[in-house]
Amino acid sequence: MDGIRKRLEQDLRTAVGRLRQVGGASALEDLLGPRGEHWAFADEVDEIQANEWREIGFATRELLVDRVNRITAALERLDEGEYGVCVECGETIASARLRVMPEVTTCVRCQDRLERASRHLEPIEVEVGAEDD
Ligand SMILES: [Zn+2]
Repeated sequence: MDGIRKRLEQDLRTAVGRLRQVGGASALEDLLGPRGEHWAFADEVDEIQANEWREIGFATRELLVDRVNRITAALERLDEGEYGVCVECGETIASARLRVMPEVTTCVRCQDRLERASRHLEPIEVEVGAEDD
């Protein structure tokens, strides 16, 4: 699982860096608190390209906050030995899926069901193999 942890930490660093660029520093403090091991990554990303952040909309910031949230939660799950288990059905999440999206907390089946429920989508065409490799 060391590879997964490195990947998550790298993704967290990237997401935190982007969030700082779009002016979400206060949101970060809410997310990560004034201290804590994950907060250290925010300090490493100190080069803010201020000219970019006006171009990035609120929706993007929300997405980044969401992503930081999920990655941080994934790291906590890793610490607690719960990583890689679907929070919905308790099944093991496919390793191929975790390689693509290491912060996911649900298996493909549950993710699909949740997304349809939240977006009120009509049945979609399933892209065979897209999720599993
Ligand atoms: Zn599941």
